[in-house]
Amino acid sequence: MIYQSSNMRESKQAKLARIYAEYDLLCKEIPEPKCALNFKNPFELLIATVLSAQTTDKRVNIVTPELFSIFPNASSLAAAPVSQVESIIYPLGFYRVKAQNIISLSACLLNNFSGIVPSNMEDLISLPGVGRKTANVVLGNAFGLPGFPVDTHVIRVTGRLGWRKVQTHPNPVAIEREITAYFAPKEWTNLSHRLILHGRKICTARNPKCVSCPLNTTCPSAII
Ligand code: SF4
Repeated sequence: MIYQSSNMRESKQAKLARIYAEYDLLCKEIPEPKCALNFKNPFELLIATVLSAQTTDKRVNIVTPELFSIFPNASSLAAAPVSQVESIIYPLGFYRVKAQNIISLSACLLNNFSGIVPSNMEDLISLPGVGRKTANVVLGNAFGLPGFPVDTHVIRVTGRLGWRKVQTHPNPVAIEREITAYFAPKEWTNLSHRLILHGRKICTARNPKCVSCPLNTTCPSAII
């Protein structure tokens, strides 16, 4: 087993060159990343993203066609019988809390934004249950605006690659600021998708597949 040498003494210039070279490799590994949640409009993506907490995007995609066929917008979902929403989203787990959350979110959307999903961070995070991660997903994927969602995969992969400062308790907002500073805003959403997909398939939480990882010659955490 060979551990790559530490990059503690890596200069800023060398680190930047390595980040861009590694990102080029990620672009080759994942040429056309896309949002794993199915949606037809910003409202559907907002609700689907809230529902995706503590479950997989695949499971969310199974329940949302029925949910949105019955409750296609904020006004219908705000007035939905909670028991009906609960039974539709039951397979996702935490169905009681999630049903209440998406109904409250829809009511707030209706009351404060005339039922239209806002396209800016400040308004999005004013909605109940919507944090920066969800807001960035919606901005980047539904509106085509700069958005860099930081999830558990982004935190893990950027940490292992040494793209960011080591933090005992990783702070997603600080990570968002640090990583986005290296890339053009138009790249942020695809960058996040690629880090997430790489984290799901190769740089997994347990037993990362360093031997087959295309970044293993430069990654400071590679075990080969
Ligand atoms: S070499 Fe290993 S630790 Fe580094 S990015 Fe690849 S899978 Fe992750």
